[in-house]
Amino acid sequence: MSHAGPRSTPQPTPLTVYLPFNRDCLRGEFIPAKTGVAPPAPRGHWLLVQDQALLVVPEGDRFQLPQGERPSALDSAASDPLWLGTLGGTPCWVTSVPKGAAVPPGLARESMVPMQGTRLPDELLSLGGMAMQLLWWESTSGHCPRCGEPTGRIAGEWGKQCARCRYEHYPHLHPAVITLVRDGSRVLLARKAGWAPGRYALVAGFVDNGESLEGAVAREVKEEVGVDITDIQYVGSQNWPFPSQLMIGFVARYAGGEIAIDKEELEDARWFDCDKLPTGPSRHSIAGFIIANHARP
Ligand SMILES: [Zn+2]
Repeated sequence: MSHAGPRSTPQPTPLTVYLPFNRDCLRGEFIPAKTGVAPPAPRGHWLLVQDQALLVVPEGDRFQLPQGERPSALDSAASDPLWLGTLGGTPCWVTSVPKGAAVPPGLARESMVPMQGTRLPDELLSLGGMAMQLLWWESTSGHCPRCGEPTGRIAGEWGKQCARCRYEHYPHLHPAVITLVRDGSRVLLARKAGWAPGRYALVAGFVDNGESLEGAVAREVKEEVGVDITDIQYVGSQNWPFPSQLMIGFVARYAGGEIAIDKEELEDARWFDCDKLPTGPSRHSIAGFIIANHARP
């Protein structure tokens, strides 16, 4: 006897969220550099980061990373190559290209920023995000934050250690909570001044010292839109490399209070029926993921 009929209990939501900038998008193909020995010569995939864009090879409406040697046109302008890891066994190298430098022949500059309408596929956004985070870490960790002496890389780690006071520090990720407040068939959305007209998203904010994630969710919602919430549930997370946030997504149930916005943070907040939602965040962000999956009647 088989039990092939429909199951009576709902399946749990998978916890892995395949959003761009999450390494999960690379489906185990990527191995970070810290677990191995650097290849002797910088050859392989190139992540050429110019501000918040990648220099890529356009092929029709698709994009590839430059392969092989680094384009020689960049030799005088770009930073020394950093080894990021391997993708499918091929080394990935990161170079920072100065903002004003000319784009080498055959390459195109493509933004990685979702709000600027990035056209890059999720895999390249995830690799590019790690490349931006590595460059950010390199640019901010060269000196000891305690005594100011130059630091050196700790073997087999991304971390740095001070040669004088031995202080160790590691790449900083800043946890931020982002929350959809629901009340029956309506949801509470907010917008900041300067966003495209009519665009609404979720309440979000950084976790404070001493706070739990749930505590941060309740405080941010109360501070920014003035309402009380209950039943706070985790729904997924997204690494956000602009420059180094970890966005931790929640849904919560409205428990009372009138909307009263923090005018320093927001321009407006209001209830929307789930079948009449305004223009929202793109599919690239966890805000878009949460609204698409949880703003339902
Ligand atoms: Zn020190």
